Amino acid sequence: MRSISILGATGSIGASTLDLIRRERDKWRVVALTANSSAEKLAELAREFDAEVAVVSQESNLGDLRAALGDSGIEAAAGKQALCDAASRNVDLTVAAIVGCAGLAPTMAAIQQGGTIALANKEALVSAGDVMTAAVRQYGATLLPVDSEHNAIFQCLQGNRLSDVRWITLTASGGPFRTWSAEQIALATPAQAVAHPNWDMGAKISVDSATMMNKGLEFIEAHHLFPVGLNHLRIIVHPQSVIHSMVEYRDGSTLAQLGPSDMRVPIASALAWPHRMDSPCNPLDLAAIGELSFFAPDEMRFPATRLAREAVNAGGAAPAMLNAANEVAVAAFLAGQIGFTRIAALVEDVLNQTARTAPTTLEEVLALDMEARVRAEQMLETV
Ligand code: NAD
Ligand code: MG
Repeated sequence: MRSISILGATGSIGASTLDLIRRERDKWRVVALTANSSAEKLAELAREFDAEVAVVSQESNLGDLRAALGDSGIEAAAGKQALCDAASRNVDLTVAAIVGCAGLAPTMAAIQQGGTIALANKEALVSAGDVMTAAVRQYGATLLPVDSEHNAIFQCLQGNRLSDVRWITLTASGGPFRTWSAEQIALATPAQAVAHPNWDMGAKISVDSATMMNKGLEFIEAHHLFPVGLNHLRIIVHPQSVIHSMVEYRDGSTLAQLGPSDMRVPIASALAWPHRMDSPCNPLDLAAIGELSFFAPDEMRFPATRLAREAVNAGGAAPAMLNAANEVAVAAFLAGQIGFTRIAALVEDVLNQTARTAPTTLEEVLALDMEARVRAEQMLETV
């Protein structure tokens, strides 16, 4: 039996992970399950999986959580510190599936236990960058990428040396507005942005896919996970999302990982690593898919990948600021406060106008994240 904690258990990645665990119930002991505020949903999952502890990030939801857990004997806790304490419990595998920089401190708490972390929470790695990878080395932790592209690259790298890599190519679906004109994109609504053609995901990452900031964040994520150098990383648009990414070696061989657009495939790969487990996903039917196509990204209509590349090239504080400004902008867009094209514009403004010193500790990353959020909020108010 292996023990597992899932940070962000009530989200899309959390649900896919629990779906796989449910099918192998006898092989897993569930330790901690966490959520932001949805106490009842969390309690239901904690009861079903007989978790040791359930944690809500919002302290105001502790009463509801306690009530919903009733006399189950499952521990209830709330607040940011409780989240980190739960993430520090010794387990064989921690799934980091909180959305946004909110997942950074608990993910770092898991890293500091020297455990194995299945990382979906890309924003944490984008913000903390070298601070996180240094902690992984210092505490002897293992990061297993869950993001489908990075999981694909991880698989394509097995048995090979990073020094033999010529190119890592991240594939991008292009999102729901891939074929839209700049004028149409400017009028895009939140409902249109969250309707992704290939993947069923949380609201924030769906908007990121529509702006292509998701691929920008993934570019930075890949830079930290697979340090081949920024000049060996590139993005290609591949609308069918069948090839999840590729690695080209210096002898001219390109390895790719293919699969259905179902996050249970990369999650299963991380859960069973270094072995394999069954997943309930439909097998890939290439004859039905027929054709795979590829396009260069259009950074005029989708400037976010350029912003991310510039931020990671600049280094220092820029990636954390990019991420924080993007989180504020996406929330404002989803709330109907700003138009779609303002998301990338706000990120660019924050990057251009905020003083930057490279963070060297978790506390400095969190302070920088907060500073960039405040700056972005101020800019939202002034225009
Ligand atoms: P989601 O919105 O569906 O779920 C987010 C989870 O985090 C929920 O359990 C929520 O309660 C929790 N949460 C939200 N805000 C929180 C806060 N402030 N403090 C503590 N917990 C909080 O998101 P998702 O789509 O499952 O994505 C999770 C992460 O995985 C993101 O970083 C995303 O980029 C990444 N990811 C998702 C997919 C996908 O298919 N959904 C694919 C690749 C990567
Ligand atoms: Mg991805």
